[in-house]
Amino acid sequence: KTVLVTGTSGFIAQHIVDNLLNKGYRVIGTTRSESKNTFLRKEYRCRYENCQLEFEVVSDISVDKAFDKIFINHPEIQYVIHTASPFFYGSEKPLDEAYLVPALKGTLNILLAITQFAPQVTNVVITSSFAAMKQMDETYTTHVHNNETWNPIKWEEVKTENDAYVASKTYAEKAAREFLRENNPNFSLATVNPPYVFGPQCFDSSVGLVLNTSNEILNTVTKLDPSLRSPQVMFGALAIDVRDVAEFHVKALEIPALASERIFIAAEPITAQKVLDVLNNCCPTFSGKIARGDPSQTANLLEKYCPKYDLTHTLRLIGDYKFISLQQSLTDVYSQYFKVNTYQ
Ligand code: NDP
Repeated sequence: KTVLVTGTSGFIAQHIVDNLLNKGYRVIGTTRSESKNTFLRKEYRCRYENCQLEFEVVSDISVDKAFDKIFINHPEIQYVIHTASPFFYGSEKPLDEAYLVPALKGTLNILLAITQFAPQVTNVVITSSFAAMKQMDETYTTHVHNNETWNPIKWEEVKTENDAYVASKTYAEKAAREFLRENNPNFSLATVNPPYVFGPQCFDSSVGLVLNTSNEILNTVTKLDPSLRSPQVMFGALAIDVRDVAEFHVKALEIPALASERIFIAAEPITAQKVLDVLNNCCPTFSGKIARGDPSQTANLLEKYCPKYDLTHTLRLIGDYKFISLQQSLTDVYSQYFKVNTYQ
């Protein structure tokens, strides 16, 4: 079976492609440039000698008809996983151009292209986010978030880059579901809604001093003043490992009960103090050199600053599932990081 995966230069998508190739799928990936495709072709071919893998260039998902030629040229595509969406901070463009337009138009462009040119596609999976679910007001830490929870954010309320990213994911997911209701296409649509995604890069050669947006948060924690002995919060969030996120995108294609679901997944809550505890205990390169904060307060901070959540619906659909722990994710991030970088 052939799967189209968009945004394959990305952190999560590379693991999705890896998971699919490992299971014997034929994969067509898209990135924005031929040079990114050359890099990925080489890396995957080293790992999977006889893999069936091709890459195409889609330089901007927000341009009208961006995906049409892919579906016209590849009538063998049966499944689509759309991950491409802007997730970085520091763009010089206005917030709507940087986040909302590509997220929203990218999603609608691919759904329209499938509807017009690929009636053989049976399943579409879109990478949405916990961003499209979380409450942004004082109920953030008390509301029990589940697969039916929606972020009520309105674009008019957006002030910061983070608001813009969060709104872009909310609007894109809503638009996808609306598209399905209005057009009643041949395919079913699932979204995977993960919170902050951590874990190793798919290839050591993608690791630099600065990591992808979500893993880079860990580097900001490791740079806290090493003499700090007070409890460290910085953020209160939920975490999941990238390999679990990839697995759930593939499960969404393979398990009929998931095909039309909003698949909310999360492994555990996270604050800076929790990151410090794990890295001081499990990562010898950091041990004793980064802040300790106050580990006696970790449980209190997680309870006070992180969202409450309920995965019952997801777990009922798939049976039990053991998520990779935050400790494992972080250990793997830095054992890979220090293969490439030296501690400074
Ligand atoms: P990355 O930034 O690593 O990947 C994003 C991908 O989207 C890149 O391949 C990027 O291409 C591509 N992209 C962005 N804008 C465009 C555009 N206008 N045209 C074409 N391609 C574009 O981020 P992640 O892998 O972390 O994120 C992947 C998906 O997962 C996103 O939808 C994100 O919102 C979602 N997500 C991520 C979470 C996380 O913590 N990492 C949490 C929840 C959801 P290029 O690299 O060339 O810019």
